[in-house]
Amino acid sequence: MGLTGGIGSGKSAVSARLAEHGAVVVDADKLARDVVAPGTPGLAAVAEAFGPGVLLPDGGLDRAALGQIVFADPAARRRLEGITHPLIRDETARRFAAPVPDAIVVHDIPLLVEAGMGEGYDLVVVVEAPRQLRLERLASRGLPRDQAEARMATQADDAARRAVADVLLDNSGDLTGLYAQVDALWHDLVARRDAGPGTDAPL
Ligand code: ADP
Repeated sequence: MGLTGGIGSGKSAVSARLAEHGAVVVDADKLARDVVAPGTPGLAAVAEAFGPGVLLPDGGLDRAALGQIVFADPAARRRLEGITHPLIRDETARRFAAPVPDAIVVHDIPLLVEAGMGEGYDLVVVVEAPRQLRLERLASRGLPRDQAEARMATQADDAARRAVADVLLDNSGDLTGLYAQVDALWHDLVARRDAGPGTDAPL
């Protein structure tokens, strides 16, 4: 399944709960960092394309330096994406072809809707919470309101996420309430899996 939600919606909390149940979670943000980790062909290709100025003294990627280049220049950004996107795609496919039999695989991906990937899953789950509550929760996590709002402005809105959702999780209450919804979802997923391929039992 694909799992998404705007920043501060509680997507990470849902993902962690699903992992506790035994889901295999593929974390899109982490994977995007992994393909340019020190020593990878991805990082070598990025350094080749943008010069040694995008490397830190320890050989890791200098995200701030690279960010300055690509945010100012759409052609540079396309060039970077031309390197990273195929690596991310291949590695994602590799992890989805999970070696665990009968695994329920969750793609935890903040930009599912923005990337137009709604069709690529058996099921799309969207976590929602009111904007004001998201801002408050992010603030208590240490993200200032203006930065949180700037990130929200670059993301799809609730209506766009709802349009691709098969299941909506309402995170306007406490964590106990959220977990109860996740547990019910997990129960349905397991039942669906155990019913065998091709079944499309309603959730
Ligand atoms: P996302 O991954 O969607 O950005 P998180 O799961 O990290 O969001 O949640 C944002 C912050 O809000 C975290 O600090 C999290 O612990 C907290 N949080 C999430 N859901 C709730 C809730 N129902 N009640 C209180 N705090 C919550």
